[in-house]
Amino acid sequence: MANLILILGDQLSHQLSAFEGADKDNDRVVMAEVHDEASYTNHHKKKLVYIFSAMRHFAGELAQQGWQVHYQRYHPDNREQSLEAVISKLAAEHNPEKLITTECGEWRLHSQISQWHERIGMAVEIRPDTRFVSHKQEFADWAEGRKQLRMEFFYREMRKKTGLLMTPEGKPEGGQWNFDSDNRKKWSGKPPAPAPFRIEPDSITREVVQLVEKHFPDHFGTTEDFHFAVTADQAQAALEHFIDFALPCFGDYQDALSDHEDWLFHSILSPYLNTGLLDPTDVCQAVVQAWYAGRAPLNAVEGFIRQIIGWREFVRGIYWLLMPGYAKENRLNNQRSLPWFYWTGETKMRCMHKAIDATARNAYAHHIQRLMVTGNFALLAGIHPEDICDWYLAVYIDAFDWVELPNTLGMVMHADGGYLGSKPYAASGKYIQRMSDHCQNCHYRVQDATGEKACPFNALYWHFIDRHRDDFANNPRMAMMYRNWDKQPDERRRAILSRGEWLLANLEEL
Ligand code: FAD
Ligand code: SF4
Repeated sequence: MANLILILGDQLSHQLSAFEGADKDNDRVVMAEVHDEASYTNHHKKKLVYIFSAMRHFAGELAQQGWQVHYQRYHPDNREQSLEAVISKLAAEHNPEKLITTECGEWRLHSQISQWHERIGMAVEIRPDTRFVSHKQEFADWAEGRKQLRMEFFYREMRKKTGLLMTPEGKPEGGQWNFDSDNRKKWSGKPPAPAPFRIEPDSITREVVQLVEKHFPDHFGTTEDFHFAVTADQAQAALEHFIDFALPCFGDYQDALSDHEDWLFHSILSPYLNTGLLDPTDVCQAVVQAWYAGRAPLNAVEGFIRQIIGWREFVRGIYWLLMPGYAKENRLNNQRSLPWFYWTGETKMRCMHKAIDATARNAYAHHIQRLMVTGNFALLAGIHPEDICDWYLAVYIDAFDWVELPNTLGMVMHADGGYLGSKPYAASGKYIQRMSDHCQNCHYRVQDATGEKACPFNALYWHFIDRHRDDFANNPRMAMMYRNWDKQPDERRRAILSRGEWLLANLEEL
């Protein structure tokens, strides 16, 4: 045998750099469902089903194309419980020239694979991951020497690089780079949100569902009603479904929250983008074509591609620029543990209950639920960043360290000092009331900040503002908050702070 080609569970793309120049007759592709990767966190059951099933389908496609594939199926008694053990065994059996792999998406595994040439005693070639618009070094070069790293400026570079939504003269289509101010409507039920795209599980997926039920019974969430795509063709159909039914309203209701609808007008493409079933540039091109064809407005299309060539690329750049120290950042010195209701959804706070309940059922919650509900609460309550990062990494089908960590530690928790936002995304209940219909069904009263039934977000918000005065009072974007807070009568401030203290001491009761 010439080479081993290792393909990881989030590298399910036939265009992967590890395949370049490979020889179907002599090389052997290795894929493995191993205990260590399946259980380093409490992965949602649907996430495990999705990844194992997509891996099995991908291995089947490779075999059909004539590749020799060594595929290890999960069993708790497998002798090889880690990727290193699988590769070591194959290296001893076949004495390949080298192992070829594409760089992986998280520091933990990356640092292990980087040591394999010594630990296993064979040559290891790690190739760049070309599935992103920007390369790691390109981001590092862009970041070099800048006082502040702002997504918006990076995004403009990516627009120029890809030519997406650019005129032949090199100007942004519509005369603006960003149409975000049009994208903040509350959704009142009309127009109706489309049904999410569904694929009924085939025999491979059904077998994996049984496996996960049997061997991961204590993991978070449920396998019930699994309907995600598990092949590239199915993911392509999911993209077309999004363009046909949700894209036209994606922009308008991008920030909306609903008491009745889990998915709203979001694309639900992140699992496929993050595992290689869809290519980000192809997705953006298809969406931009929909605008040129008059099938979607510019605010929706620009808003969508900004998420992918802007935010998605930006967070990846930040991750690789700042790891491994980044994962340990805790600039606001938070020390509280994650309340148990993050795992059960049993809380009287309606917005939190709805977001966590959807997460448990679907392994999905949309961005505003993640940022402004469960994330905002963790920020206001001073939850330790490691606790809340572990939660986000476990519970979402699209969660991989490179994208989850900067979003949680940076964007939500502001624990990195502000790489993902020039001010924290802290908000009181008023924001949730403005963007949703949750509050009218809640045990708590959103208009109150004190009293037993006062919305917890309110007093926690002012407590956060007050206790972090040294961190934020000189931030021009926070100045108005401090002015508003300081002009409240002393007695009211004392009452709010005292309610805040009580809430912080009794998080589990909420
Ligand atoms: P849409 O709303 O339809 O957006 C389109 C696409 O844009 C997404 O599929 C995604 O690829 C990309 N995108 C949008 N926002 C972001 C962002 N902030 N960072 C990176 N990509 C983005 N996204 C993940 O893919 N994996 C994660 O583990 C993850 N963890 C998150 C944790 C927190 C605390 C927060 C606030 C956000 C997180 N996000 C994560 C970003 C975002 O919430 C999800 O990408 C999005 O909700 C996925 O659903 P969708 O495909 O319907 O997205
Ligand atoms: Fe959430 Fe407060 Fe509204 Fe209840 S009142 S839904 S806790 S914001």
